[in-house]
Amino acid sequence: MSQQLTDNFGRRIDYLRLSVTDRCDLRCQYCMPKDFKDFAEPGGWLSYEEITRVVMAFARLGLRHLRITGGEPLVRRDLPILVRELAAIPGIEDISLSSNCTRMEKLARPLAEAGVRRLNVSLDSLRPERYREITGGGKLDKVLRGIEAAREAGMAPIKINTVAMAGFNDDEFDELIDYCAPRGYTLRLIETMPVGETGRKALGSYLDLGKVRKRLARSRGLEPAAMPGAGPARYYRIPGSDTTIGFITPISQHFCETCNRVRLSCEGDIFTCLGDEHRYGLIQPLRDGCSDDELLEHVLAAVRTKPERHEFNENQEKVVRFMSMTGG
Ligand code: SF4
Repeated sequence: MSQQLTDNFGRRIDYLRLSVTDRCDLRCQYCMPKDFKDFAEPGGWLSYEEITRVVMAFARLGLRHLRITGGEPLVRRDLPILVRELAAIPGIEDISLSSNCTRMEKLARPLAEAGVRRLNVSLDSLRPERYREITGGGKLDKVLRGIEAAREAGMAPIKINTVAMAGFNDDEFDELIDYCAPRGYTLRLIETMPVGETGRKALGSYLDLGKVRKRLARSRGLEPAAMPGAGPARYYRIPGSDTTIGFITPISQHFCETCNRVRLSCEGDIFTCLGDEHRYGLIQPLRDGCSDDELLEHVLAAVRTKPERHEFNENQEKVVRFMSMTGG
């Protein structure tokens, strides 16, 4: 049965962001507090079999795009096994991954062979000291080798996600473009969001990307462009080159009217909106032995609760959870 998953605002939901863990080996300042330890217990995580069942239910409802996220997804053991299972589900056309690439050097080839096609990398600075500071101790050289390994393993396109922060990395955007251009990567600049206490604190260095785009348009000349993927970025190309730059602007110019996605946490909660705390739990019905049709009804019921848009500008206290809980 191929039925389309549509929310109450007529938006087709064909993209699932799947968080396989809330754990991470980094502590990015705008995401997770340095000393955070209150992680979900592995017993409370969906097993790979349960994740596969949920994704099959979504696929029966027209899901096409799947992004694997975390926390840091590569800290979950045997991830290529899950990817292979998910890639075999009828209807799933595209599996992508969001990672900080600290462990990609070893896992790039097995993940690509299992079915990961596209990669988004969290990288906020190309300066080792700054990178160490923003990530709470990360090693930049390891990450750059990891990205290179992903490219050699055939993952493409590779997008570099940089959270733009005034007074921190806003003097590095040209360097990041010059790092991406010869390697065929796409730089995406992202506005800070009030997700969790850490996200609210990061609003202190909020940068309106509309202004940054205008500056880059003056210095580099930018023309509108398109990129494969189901995400919210608006893309521009540097004329006469293949270099594209993306802007993700949830605060200055939101994109909720065309939203096509929901999120599944590692504990089996469906979050229908990044800007909302409401969650629809699947772990109980799964562990109570629900049938596939019952599971499908739960997914439909969850999507019926999806709000029209976020309230990041109106109510910055609304989202309590940290970004690491569902991934961006
Ligand atoms: S904030 Fe919510 S509605 Fe808006 S694009 Fe993100 S998930 Fe969709």
